[in-house]
Amino acid sequence: MVNSRRMSLSDLLAQNRAWAAAQVARDPDYFARLTGGQHPRVLWIGCSDSRVPAEQVLGCGPGDLFVHRNVANIVAYNDINIAAVVQFATHNLGIEDVVVCGHYGCGGIRAACAHEAPTGYIGDWLAIAGWAQRAVDARLAAAGRVPEREAYLRLVVEENVRLQLTHLSHLSVVRDRWARTPGVPRLHGWVYDIGTGLVKAVEGSDT
Ligand SMILES: [Zn+2]
Repeated sequence: MVNSRRMSLSDLLAQNRAWAAAQVARDPDYFARLTGGQHPRVLWIGCSDSRVPAEQVLGCGPGDLFVHRNVANIVAYNDINIAAVVQFATHNLGIEDVVVCGHYGCGGIRAACAHEAPTGYIGDWLAIAGWAQRAVDARLAAAGRVPEREAYLRLVVEENVRLQLTHLSHLSVVRDRWARTPGVPRLHGWVYDIGTGLVKAVEGSDT
């Protein structure tokens, strides 16, 4: 595997040509079928982190997932980008399962929890995840627990998934769909472990 930091853009384009040729060699109608439309199984809302490519970690390919990614997999109320994605996925494509997938080792969550808060747009954005940190802090204080730093950050990553599912459940596009088809879309909270490649459900996150 080539170190992506050393790849030039012409390398990337050459890899694309090789990939497309290999797909056609395996299945001559592969791209022709994809031009006929899309019927993705799941809407994936994940982190922009380069180590968490939705299709690859789920063993999927083109056409399988409808994907929205941003820093720290946040569902913001005032983000018409994600609202439009959710609307198109659930109303137009008929997707019935929406996954918010966080990941351990998330730089966004680490920055949100840093003693010195990030500044600029990234600080504004990550402030939305601040409620997850406060919820974890309150729970740990009540239990008298002081986990080591990495364990603490994993708890915040998981809580951030629950928080963003709550935000998702408040979006009018989701509520409108629930009003028409109770229980659909189903919302799921997952977390990906960069160190093992495994995805698991976040406890208490399924609706
Ligand atoms: Zn991340």
